[in-house]
Amino acid sequence: MAFKPANNIQDLQYFGEFGGVNPSVSDSSTYTFLSAKTMFDTFEGNADGCYLYSRHSSPSNLYLGEALAAMEGTETATVTASGMGAITPVIMQLCNAGDHIISSRTIYGGTYAFLKNFSPKFNIETSFVDITKLDVVEASITKDTKIIYCESVSNPLLEVADIKGLAEIAKKHNLKLVVDNTFSPLSISPAKLGADIVVHSLTKFINGSSDTVAGVICGTQEFIDNLRNVNDGACMLLGATMDSLRSASVLKNLRTLHIRMQQHSFNANYLAEKFENDGLKTVYPGLKSHPSHELYKSMMLDKYGYGGMLTIDVGSIDKANELMELMQERNLGYLAVSLGFYKTLFSAPGSSTSSEIPDDEREAMGLSDGLIRFSIGLDADIKRTYKIMRECMVELNVLEAKAPELV
Ligand SMILES: *Cc1c(COP(=O)(O)O)cnc(C)c1O
Repeated sequence: MAFKPANNIQDLQYFGEFGGVNPSVSDSSTYTFLSAKTMFDTFEGNADGCYLYSRHSSPSNLYLGEALAAMEGTETATVTASGMGAITPVIMQLCNAGDHIISSRTIYGGTYAFLKNFSPKFNIETSFVDITKLDVVEASITKDTKIIYCESVSNPLLEVADIKGLAEIAKKHNLKLVVDNTFSPLSISPAKLGADIVVHSLTKFINGSSDTVAGVICGTQEFIDNLRNVNDGACMLLGATMDSLRSASVLKNLRTLHIRMQQHSFNANYLAEKFENDGLKTVYPGLKSHPSHELYKSMMLDKYGYGGMLTIDVGSIDKANELMELMQERNLGYLAVSLGFYKTLFSAPGSSTSSEIPDDEREAMGLSDGLIRFSIGLDADIKRTYKIMRECMVELNVLEAKAPELV
């Protein structure tokens, strides 16, 4: 595969105005014009390289957008104030009242809530389907369908979408395939597999330091221009604009993403194998037991691995809570939502990030109460981490006290 997303980031050169090795941070909301004519042309979208007002675009935001477009292999990208601030304008831009969306039923809780509860206010209806069944997806298409929406690796169940297969269906029926790639940056490149639009919550792995919320939309120049249009662009008009100081900060963190992803994946893979071997119900795309292991393998860029997310099921919410509290006490990570931090983060999605999803639907999709979602950190000594985690599990009778086999 000739496409090397990390190198595409590495190859970028942006200098500050005094030759700084980092681009200068644009500290302005508005920009002067030498001529009134240029201001008019900029409003009309006809003056390349001119800035108008920072809700429309700013140099810092363009730098970050271009770096992320290079990573995803799309023509361009636009950054937003949060992941939801990327997802919602894409949907509002692509759909009119009366339109229909087909979405994976296992998606981020906020996206689910938007599609289920919010967009119907604009008469945009969504069918939630098992995205791993391509025939079900195709059978759900109506004359009003505009979008197929999924996550490359779903939150929190780690279902894997067949992006090539979905892209074929989308093309055949003239729909847009929108893929949220938050869980698998660098590892999976949805646009290269045929997705039309790729979104990320930069809040997670890409920024990686749990100090901000941020998002991005990667797509064609035409679509990104539409989003920014002063007359009818959803990004411009809904106003979820990233602050320049923040985008400068996210850009600096992006440069180490390839190293971090390798470590997240290495650590998660190690723990997943151990947990499964211990007899825990473990879900991780890197395990042969994962129903989409081969599919993930066929889509991934090998060296970034299967990502940093894994789940185990400890049977009940009480057990899950006890275990998470104990692991936090032993400094194995934090009981917190979100992902992509240097510390391991764990939470029980049924009572937190997926609580927007009604009980019966959670059950139908296999999201049980005892499920713990881990975002595995950058621990330097993962064997030691495993040993202490195992001790916690034995202490709480999640596991029997047989000696852990240390490889
Ligand atoms: C967190 C998350 C979002 C939302 O992003 P925010 O930055 O919190 O707005 C969307 N999709 C996925 C998969 C996420 O994990």
